[in-house]
Amino acid sequence: MRKKLVAGNWKMHGSLAENAALLAALKPALSGIEAVVCVPFPYLAQAQAELAGSSIAWGAQNVSEQAKGAFTGEVSASMLLDFGCTYVIVGHSERRSLYGESDALVASKYVAAQAAGLTPILCVGESLAERESGVTEAVVARQLDAVINAAGVASLAKAVVAYEPVWAIGTGKTASPEQAQAVHAFIRGKIAALDAGVADQLVIQYGGSVKAANAAELMVQPDIDGGLIGGASLVADEFIAICRAAA
Ligand code: 13P
Repeated sequence: MRKKLVAGNWKMHGSLAENAALLAALKPALSGIEAVVCVPFPYLAQAQAELAGSSIAWGAQNVSEQAKGAFTGEVSASMLLDFGCTYVIVGHSERRSLYGESDALVASKYVAAQAAGLTPILCVGESLAERESGVTEAVVARQLDAVINAAGVASLAKAVVAYEPVWAIGTGKTASPEQAQAVHAFIRGKIAALDAGVADQLVIQYGGSVKAANAAELMVQPDIDGGLIGGASLVADEFIAICRAAA
């Protein structure tokens, strides 16, 4: 049985005071439930101080593909390790679309994260135009292939994949459980064709307007192994309910 895993992606939200209140609410409520929060870089030290010894792991939302050097504004995987990160999101659609991250760059970031011992949460997903023109599977396959070609299918044993249809992110339009399940099954089948054991163990999260109200119907789908949660991860009661629905 795969374990389910829910991760919060705080995006560019929060403050020291807001985070302290949120984490103080999450910690006791999620005691014994494995969960993750991916916080903005400046708050990694706060996450480490607040969450060390709890069942909540923490991570970042981006990482440099470079190990060190003259790369102004970048943050390396080893720096994330210094702050106790376990996870890092790579290839979020906002980074792909707003910051021009290519499949190749995302694959390089995935490789850099794993080389340092971090678990990448690899985001894949199609835009609305891509879904409407019937190329959802082709887009997701292309995004996965970039990583498989760079790091090998076995690398997915130490990664999480998050399927996030771009049209469902922050829009209130969740993919239906059937729509999400279909793409999750496609992802698992594609990987199973290369390595059945890796595919069977791979945690594939769904992301896109997941809320307490719709979490349960998504989490019961056979190939949905948790969620990557944006807006609702900033509201303690919502995030707690979603984590409990997956537990
Ligand atoms: P929302 O849950 O706000 O739709 O965001 C999803 C997301 O992008 C998580 O990475």
